[in-house]
Amino acid sequence: MNTATQTTLKQSRSIERLVQGVATSDGAGVSLTRVLTGKLQRRLDPFLMLDAFGSDDPDDYIAGFPDHPHRGFETITYMLSGRMRHRDSAGHEGLLENGGMQWMIAGRGVIHSEIPEQEDGLMEGFQLWLNLPAGNKMAVPWYKDFSSAEIPEYATAEGAAVRVIAGSSNGVAGAVTREVTEPVYLDIHLPAGAQFSTALPHTHNAFLYVYRGAVQVGGEQVDAQRMGILSNAPEADGVTIVAKEAARLILVAGKPLNEPIVQYGPFVMNMQEEIHQALDDYRSGRLA
Ligand code: FE
Repeated sequence: MNTATQTTLKQSRSIERLVQGVATSDGAGVSLTRVLTGKLQRRLDPFLMLDAFGSDDPDDYIAGFPDHPHRGFETITYMLSGRMRHRDSAGHEGLLENGGMQWMIAGRGVIHSEIPEQEDGLMEGFQLWLNLPAGNKMAVPWYKDFSSAEIPEYATAEGAAVRVIAGSSNGVAGAVTREVTEPVYLDIHLPAGAQFSTALPHTHNAFLYVYRGAVQVGGEQVDAQRMGILSNAPEADGVTIVAKEAARLILVAGKPLNEPIVQYGPFVMNMQEEIHQALDDYRSGRLA
């Protein structure tokens, strides 16, 4: 693994608010925790949704997500454990497994299915929705699968191991770089006693979600299965995360679009009329 020297920050962001996810069910009956819900879309602009799924009970995941549409945003599916097969209306197919990631720009429209390809064992991961700027909502769809080996990683002298899914961290460029929203998406593994820092522009909205152990940011504790929304103080040039016990978390940040958000299920546009158009296109077979 590459090594990187972590930046020395002038000041770390602090935890503005802790959020507990909401247990829900989606697709054909997949149990998951919705961590970023509609109420937080404005505060965490450009992010629209974060679902965490994790279960070793096949009843919680086996039915998967049969054919469904998307329009107007990007989806990033990061698989910590398990296998998910996806197929879309354009004839693309791929298998997402242990440590891999799929980045999809739904743009003007994709109809796809996401179906587990295992009948037992642990299925764990995240799906994040990233908004598209108004001018790109009807872009040509695009997606790419990244195997675990294709996600850049680095280690620090302080013991952190970091996977850079998007953006860059401590000089290491991630698997995906996006213009406009400039998303940063890190999977951070910390041994007990480690301290980790990474720079973030203070204008980026940012949050972390702890999925193992617990961490502290500015003296505030964030336990497992909790999201910590990070403050946007202008004098803070990044975030410092302290792990008193071994911990794993994702850190997500992006530049807000400050555009109207109108969501109807899997369609996220700027105006109600565009939602009507999306529904009309979907029902008449013109979406994808
Ligand atoms: Fe989907």
